[in-house]
Amino acid sequence: MTFIRLRTKCIIGFTILNLLIGMALFFLIRFEVHHRLEQEIHKRGATIARHLAESSVTPILTENTISLQLLVNNYVKTEDDLRYIYILNARNEVLAHSFGTAFPKDLLKADEPASGANKDRVKVTKLRSEEGLLYDMPAGIQQGQLGQVHVGISEAAVTKTLDGVLTHLLFYMAGIICFGTIMAVVFATAITRPIAILAAGVKQVGMGELDYVTKINTHDEIGELAGSFNSMLENLRQTTVSRQYMDKIINTMNDALIVFSQEGVVYNVNRAFGELFGYVPEEMIGCRVVDFPKQEAPRCLYAAFENAFQSGYLSHEGTCLCASGKFIPVLFSLAMMHDEQGKPQEIIGVVNDISGIKKAQEELEKKRAELENLNRTLEEMVSLRTAELAVTNEGLRAEVINSKLIAAELKIARDAAEAASVAKSEFLTNMSHEMRTPLNSIIVGVEFLGEADLGRDQSRCLEMIGQAGKNMLVLINDLIDLARIESGRLEIVAEEFNLPEMLDKTVELLSRSARIKGLELLLDTASDLPVIVVGDRIRLQQVLVNLVSNAVKFTLQGRVEISARPGPRVDNTIPITFVVLDTGIGIDEEKLQTIFETFTQADSSITRRFGGSGLGLTISRRLVEAMSGNMQVESTPGVGSSFYVTVPLSEPAAISINRDGQNANGCRNGQDFAKNIDTVLPVVLLVDDSRENRELLRLLLLKKQLLIDEAGNGHEAVEMFRENEYDLVLMDIQMPIMDGYTATRQIRQMEELAGRAKTPIVALTAHAYENDVQACKEAGCDDHISKPFKKAALFDCLTKYLNGA
Ligand code: ADP
Repeated sequence: MTFIRLRTKCIIGFTILNLLIGMALFFLIRFEVHHRLEQEIHKRGATIARHLAESSVTPILTENTISLQLLVNNYVKTEDDLRYIYILNARNEVLAHSFGTAFPKDLLKADEPASGANKDRVKVTKLRSEEGLLYDMPAGIQQGQLGQVHVGISEAAVTKTLDGVLTHLLFYMAGIICFGTIMAVVFATAITRPIAILAAGVKQVGMGELDYVTKINTHDEIGELAGSFNSMLENLRQTTVSRQYMDKIINTMNDALIVFSQEGVVYNVNRAFGELFGYVPEEMIGCRVVDFPKQEAPRCLYAAFENAFQSGYLSHEGTCLCASGKFIPVLFSLAMMHDEQGKPQEIIGVVNDISGIKKAQEELEKKRAELENLNRTLEEMVSLRTAELAVTNEGLRAEVINSKLIAAELKIARDAAEAASVAKSEFLTNMSHEMRTPLNSIIVGVEFLGEADLGRDQSRCLEMIGQAGKNMLVLINDLIDLARIESGRLEIVAEEFNLPEMLDKTVELLSRSARIKGLELLLDTASDLPVIVVGDRIRLQQVLVNLVSNAVKFTLQGRVEISARPGPRVDNTIPITFVVLDTGIGIDEEKLQTIFETFTQADSSITRRFGGSGLGLTISRRLVEAMSGNMQVESTPGVGSSFYVTVPLSEPAAISINRDGQNANGCRNGQDFAKNIDTVLPVVLLVDDSRENRELLRLLLLKKQLLIDEAGNGHEAVEMFRENEYDLVLMDIQMPIMDGYTATRQIRQMEELAGRAKTPIVALTAHAYENDVQACKEAGCDDHISKPFKKAALFDCLTKYLNGA
């Protein structure tokens, strides 16, 4: 059936109703107007008839028919719609009429005029004529006694007026109908519009769009209905998941989804399904699965479901054809949806592309096969290797046992070597001590005898003894140094000292030897050479003295030059290069590489000629290396040699002054004490277990203006110190009964307890090692002089400590 809108229906209905009412009104009005007009004509006709009846009395009584005729003619002339008039006498004979020649006889049948009580009621007879309907109105002359007057008026007058009235009426009615129709349209629209909105809303909701809101603001039943509809929707929204929301979920999910009816019509397909199989989802909805090729996804899925219809659920792997003609492996699960009554409704299929998984599985399978293969090969290799290893193992075990034996032997050898090294060091130390003590006596004795008045030969002999003693002292000192270096006990100290002053002293030390040989001894220091530096002054000087003394020794004529130049500074450290150049005999090229080795001399004849032990350069190089420096040599035989020593020295942050007012290089701010010892003689306590040593010292100090007390061991010394006051104590370290360390400690303790001023104590030690010096200082000694001491060293010490006494 064709759908006709409610609005159209309303408009048509209202218009038809309008027309019907209009028509009814029209006919009603027509009938009423016609009736009124007829009454009017009847009245007029009756009036004319009555008037004529009254006017006809006299002519009838006088039988003046001409007057009657004139009367009739006048009326007919004045009244337009008057069709006829005729006057009858009592005998119904026509006395006058308006018909002209012949009077129509059948008119005489017209009714009698009204009389009596009904005389006001007009009696009208309707006559048919050629020109239409006529109204005949009679009037009695003298109540009919004299006759009758009949007046005939045509109905045309009524029709004419009626037509005019109806024309107007039709015009107005058309206007009214038009207005009515417009009103019908407006009214129908007003009524049906909210209904249409409501209907659209219902349709949307029916499609699952629960977010729809109807906007009708009319204050009537429809407005109320819309309100109820909206609240119903709100309730629905809260209790139901909207179609739109469901669609969003379905189209967002990554699994492909298809829904068909049990008959195989596609109801829904999501985006993922379209993408996976190459369809446009919208185009698929409504399609029948049978219209797809047999292996294509929708049909193949439906077929799979048909197979498992009984179970109601199916999950399975398979291969589906895409729209593009490509086969893809899929995992699908199908399920039947049921309504509330449990009646099967639609089939839902969820499909996943498992080509990636399949590929990975294949890869895995391949890898597994490879692995198995490898495993087999590995097992074979392992068993082969195991067999080989077993053989090797046996060999190894034997080797291990052998190695262990070797290691044990090596350990024994190493321990023996270490023990030998320790023994060597100890031997050297002990030997040096044992040798220094007699040497001390020899040197001091020679020096003392040198001052005596001797004959020429005696003096020469004494000189030889002195020289031999000095050479031996040098050798012992070198041996001690070497032993110390090799045993790793060499300690490099960092103290502040005046570098140019140290160089001056070095030159001064050797200037006498140079002068004797007629050599020029030059010192060249760079202008930018730092003055106060931090380093091991004694060791550096030892190296330079060795090099300069070698240069003097191996130069017969010409000069020996010492230069010092600073290198580029790195942070606070300045590398200083010292060069000792000579114009001496030089060294052969092949010997240049070996002169730094122990006991090596360039030429054995040299020893005979110049003396020396071959240890000096070895010790020097080891000392330089211990100071993080390096030493090189350049030499041309017959021309001369140059020894290069580079040592990093650092600059102090500030020049420090020690508590005795001495600066770093030990210079005392005063004069030689000898010049000041005029009045009170200072008293020195000399502690030594060797009577020879005490004797020697006494001889040496004989000419000095001081008094000497002697003690044979530490204990004696402590007791004497308790009883007397001394200006200086010369304390031997190795002594029987009580050694020098203990005696010094007890003296210091005594001073502290008695509140006595500290007396300078100078240790006399045969050991010149740093740890010996350190041990002396720790015991409380102020200084030390190593044995065998030289006169100068002893006098320096006296100057230093007795100057104020
Ligand atoms: P020695 O105590 O014999 O001088 P050194 O180790 O100081 O021992 O020197 C080793 C050798 O190097 C010397 O015997 C000498 O042959 C050679 N020698 C060292 N300095 C010079 C030099 N300035 N000129 C020539 N030969 C030198």
